[in-house]
Amino acid sequence: MEITSAEFVVSNSRADMCPATHLPEYAFIGRSNVGKSSLINMLTKQPKLAMTSATPGKTLLINHFLVNKEWYLVDLPGYGYAQRGKKMMDKIEKLIQHYVLEREQMTCLFVLVDSRLAPQKIDMEFIEWLGENGVPFAIIFTKADKQSAGKTRANVDIYLSELSKQWEELPPYFISSAEKKTGRKEILDYIEQINHS
Ligand code: GDP
Repeated sequence: MEITSAEFVVSNSRADMCPATHLPEYAFIGRSNVGKSSLINMLTKQPKLAMTSATPGKTLLINHFLVNKEWYLVDLPGYGYAQRGKKMMDKIEKLIQHYVLEREQMTCLFVLVDSRLAPQKIDMEFIEWLGENGVPFAIIFTKADKQSAGKTRANVDIYLSELSKQWEELPPYFISSAEKKTGRKEILDYIEQINHS
């Protein structure tokens, strides 16, 4: 799929106030600083579409972007901001839970994890929770340019073997770099394939 248009539609602090349409939604989530905004900007070829974590406030909201007038790309708040305090964490968690569990249009949730790191507890717990709740998801390993392809592969394999302890079937996964613009075609083709199935 090629993206011919991508426009910001609305930011929400409540899942039940998201756009009242039936278009399919593909949501992106991950720990703060995982490279979510950079990936969204890379996918849409709009360097400033998603606000990076350097922009306070916006990253606490659910942001809807209309793509090709056909589907929504949804930028969810990052989880695991320890420095934000427990009250804020609870608020963000509730917002995420509400969107992920209640939003019928949510077609696939892309969970971003840093390709350089060993499996992180918070990500593994989140993925387990998705499984328990039957949420359709895929994993995107980010920042692959920051190390050799061999090291990325080795890290991804560790991750997959960790997941295979919990799962009979592994989720789809992608390796990406916003810097080198890799993984773009694979992720967009995956979305297109679901949209047309
Ligand atoms: P977010 O908090 O998940 O939205 O993360 P950002 O997109 O704001 O990225 C966090 C930091 O990682 C920024 O300094 C980005 O420039 C950097 N970054 C994000 N993606 C990549 C990538 O693919 N390669 C490299 N080298 N740096 C990246």
